[in-house]
Amino acid sequence: MTRVNPEADVDLVHEATDLVQLIGEHLALKPKGREHIGLCPFHDDHTPSLTVVTHKGNGFYKCYACGAAGDAFSFVMNYHKMDFPQALAYLADRAGITLRRHAPTGGARRGPDRADLRQALTDAASFFRRTLEHPDAGRAARRMIDERRISAAMVEAFGLGAAPDQWEALHHLAGRRGRSVEPFVAAGLLKKRDSGQGCYDVFRNRLIFLIGDEMGRPVAFGARQLDPADEPKYLNTAESPLFRKSRTLYGLHLARRSIIESGRAIVTEGYTDVIACHQAGFTNVLGTLGTALTADHARVLKRLCETVVLLFDGDEAGQRAADRALEVLFAEPVDVKICILPDGLDPDDCLRGPDGPARFRAAVDGAVDALAYKVDRFRRELRGVTSLSGRQRRLEQFLADLGALGFGTLQGVRKRLIIAQLADLLGVSMRDVEQAAPRRRRSGAPKPAAAAPPTSPGPPDDESAAVSAARRRAEHDVLSILIYQPALRSQTVRGADGRPLSIVELLRPERFRDHAAQQIVRIIFPRLEADRDFTVQEILAEVGATDLRGLVSSLYLEGHAQAGAGGEAAAERLRAAATTLDRLIHRQRYQEEVLAFRRGGSESSGPVMTPHRLIEERRKQGYVPAAIGQGVRSPEGEGGFVQ
Ligand SMILES: [Zn+2]
Repeated sequence: MTRVNPEADVDLVHEATDLVQLIGEHLALKPKGREHIGLCPFHDDHTPSLTVVTHKGNGFYKCYACGAAGDAFSFVMNYHKMDFPQALAYLADRAGITLRRHAPTGGARRGPDRADLRQALTDAASFFRRTLEHPDAGRAARRMIDERRISAAMVEAFGLGAAPDQWEALHHLAGRRGRSVEPFVAAGLLKKRDSGQGCYDVFRNRLIFLIGDEMGRPVAFGARQLDPADEPKYLNTAESPLFRKSRTLYGLHLARRSIIESGRAIVTEGYTDVIACHQAGFTNVLGTLGTALTADHARVLKRLCETVVLLFDGDEAGQRAADRALEVLFAEPVDVKICILPDGLDPDDCLRGPDGPARFRAAVDGAVDALAYKVDRFRRELRGVTSLSGRQRRLEQFLADLGALGFGTLQGVRKRLIIAQLADLLGVSMRDVEQAAPRRRRSGAPKPAAAAPPTSPGPPDDESAAVSAARRRAEHDVLSILIYQPALRSQTVRGADGRPLSIVELLRPERFRDHAAQQIVRIIFPRLEADRDFTVQEILAEVGATDLRGLVSSLYLEGHAQAGAGGEAAAERLRAAATTLDRLIHRQRYQEEVLAFRRGGSESSGPVMTPHRLIEERRKQGYVPAAIGQGVRSPEGEGGFVQ
């Protein structure tokens, strides 16, 4: 049939679809009067509430309980979570209609069309099935199936087969059926001989795994060696218009319903792992074809569920895959979790062990969010790094790595959610993460970590140079008196605005600009906050053998000189120095705001902060991100990073 109007496809498919038959393929329908009734698949139905009406030219279904209603297209879309084009393709295939819109467009048609490919694959599938049942030709494959304890029901459901130990068995079959070899060649089932004379079978003496599309129709095959001498261990048929490896999921048609119902897809890598899981009752498991989860996979799965759990048989493998998982997580709005099976077992072995299913379930339920997994690994890595600058570099690199994985491409609410999550996991503020996160990623571009430093005029590299002499003087003055007479910490001074200001408030480390002074304040501040006395010896001990030693000593001596005999004189000096310092702080902040405003800036268009600069900046303000500080948040226990 030739149709010129592609719009007619929809009508044609609609006409060709018997609604009772279609719905009857998905659930049990009983006739009731002129209608049919069944249990509604769209809610938890116990009294048949779904009515299918097909008389008087009608064709619709309606659920009297949940209100679900529609025609063949909406049924397929809702039941299989397909979009309209997919539902159209599904119904067209079912009715044996070739859609015009699916015909290759533009240019010369190359190779066999989809229908020819489908025919070749279907022929091959039944050939492999028959071979498996053949007393001699299927013996080795059956032995392997037995060894792996794959049940007959699974062999049937997954369409396992065998390729005989012959060079031209499938080729001859195609010949006997009068088929062109081209589609077989295009599908990667036959290969043309170099001589140009005839073809030979690609799969010989192998166990065959049928790779189906969303409806279970064969689109490709995986083939495992039966003889260890036959390299490689696994072979796949070629990519074709029907088969793209990076978006195909093994067992999808069998797992689909269960994935929708559980809201969770469990992804593993091997064919036999998928089968073992289904056999053990974990029917929401499917497999990638030897690749990591791709964004294409995620796009398929996000229509069915919200959470994708990736199964790995060891920390090592999980670690390698975590990056890819994050890339997917950033690309598609789906939660990606990482599940490490206990004792380095693969799913098959895990399920067969004692309490296998229970352990398996526990492992899956305990799957860790991919982002949390990555952060956890990062924290563990940090434990071995003792220097503050080393830790800082790692954090910087970590954020840059996330950027390289596409963190910067996140948009809107999703971005804020993930930033919040990351901030929580790292123990830093959302603003920090936002500023540190590289803005954009282009594929193929160098990693943000290697990007050039910002060109906009940021703060000078030597921050101390930017500190005015007056400010430094004021900072040192306050410190010197306090180091000499810590008891003065309980004084209340007057701030720049005339209001009372406590010493604790005044000495917040982030208010200090002189780097050395700030480091000393950091040592003193916890004691001030706790209202604890301290001695200069204590401070010196904590400073250790650094340059700060000299400064602490001279501040002490200065304090001694200023305070004189102590008493009220010292308190008076402190109040004066404190007010001066607070006034300078206010004045400089004002000046900086004016400067930023003149530079053309709303807050967001300020100088681009590299993670390094950001962390440096925050440190100068006395802020230590939890991930940098030691033992602030234990990666184990707490359970805070799980889920
Ligand atoms: Zn319903």
